[in-house]
Amino acid sequence: MYDIIIIGSGPAGLSASIYAKRAGFNAITIEKNYMSGGQILDTFEVDNYPGLKGINGFDMGMKFREHADALGCAFKVATVLSVSRNDDIFVVETDEEKLEARAVIAAMGANNAKLSAPGEAEFTGRGVSYCATCDGAFFRGKTTAVVGGGDVAAEDAIFLARGCEKVYLIHRRDELRAADILQKELKSLENVEIIWDTVVEKIEGTDQVERLVLKNKKSGEAGELSVDGVFIAVGIIPNSGILKGVTQLDDKGYVIAGEDCASATPGLFAAGDIRAKQLRQVVTAVADGANAVNSVQEYFLRKNV
Ligand SMILES: Cc1cc2nc3c(=O)[nH]c(=O)nc-3n(C[C@H](O)[C@H](O)[C@H](O)COP(=O)(O)OP(=O)(O)OC[C@H]3O[C@@H](n4cnc5c(N)ncnc54)[C@H](O)[C@@H]3O)c2cc1C
Repeated sequence: MYDIIIIGSGPAGLSASIYAKRAGFNAITIEKNYMSGGQILDTFEVDNYPGLKGINGFDMGMKFREHADALGCAFKVATVLSVSRNDDIFVVETDEEKLEARAVIAAMGANNAKLSAPGEAEFTGRGVSYCATCDGAFFRGKTTAVVGGGDVAAEDAIFLARGCEKVYLIHRRDELRAADILQKELKSLENVEIIWDTVVEKIEGTDQVERLVLKNKKSGEAGELSVDGVFIAVGIIPNSGILKGVTQLDDKGYVIAGEDCASATPGLFAAGDIRAKQLRQVVTAVADGANAVNSVQEYFLRKNV
């Protein structure tokens, strides 16, 4: 019986492992990949984490994991298939065995929805990005495009317009889904141009992205757009499937939990990108890992166990 089972070893899970070990808990972290680090592993450069300026994402993941290993944190490579709660005890079923714990920290993260356009995977990190907050600064004075029509796409375009010479917002419909206030701000910006009814058919370049091949969905007309970068904002999919029916999720599938990371299910905590929150970044994920362990301590104290 473990005190805590942590599911996922991205930034949130690794931070939770470190805090749990230092708090003296008998904890184990279960990760389905052979490497820890989560989404950050695929990131060429992380330039907004204090103290590690310009670090390669893979190196950052390794550094976080080395820290946990140096403290003696326990890890297991396995995929968690289900979580259930019986009489205050959680049963975590993996593809190999069933484990029990008094508390669970869910840190399974999220994945960005893909366009599935040719060139997208090839140029990811070389002009294709899913995070304007993370990578926008690399495109200062350049021309970029944002693909999408929701709040995130509008926010990304507004954010990029502060530094880029020109920003195109490419949307497959003739109206945006973004909040009115965002649409008003977007339309007031002189360096933002919205391209309606259009999809990205292909992303092309040599070493870096150079152009997008577009198609107007209404007229069928094809075209090309020269850009230095393209930000894809067509949705984020939280990895919360195993928690359906176990705790409360919002309409997008994020676990409903506040800054204390406590979900609606006693003893189940959610840390990092899987949690309903405003900003999904490494710095907020590691903060959640720490807060989740602190909340576990309070939960055990309250239960007097
Ligand atoms: C391309 C890209 C660039 C980014 N750049 C930056 C940046 O520059 N700066 C920044 O701050 N943030 C950046 N981010 C965001 C940042 O990576 C995330 O906010 C952060 O990784 C979230 O950490 P997490 O631990 O919550 O989740 P994740 O990193 O998603 O980790 C979740 C982990 O859980 C594991 N897992 C999932 N399901 C299971 C299961 N059922 N069983 C076992 N294991 C499971 C996964 O394999 C994964 O390792 C970027 C994201 C992307 C995609």
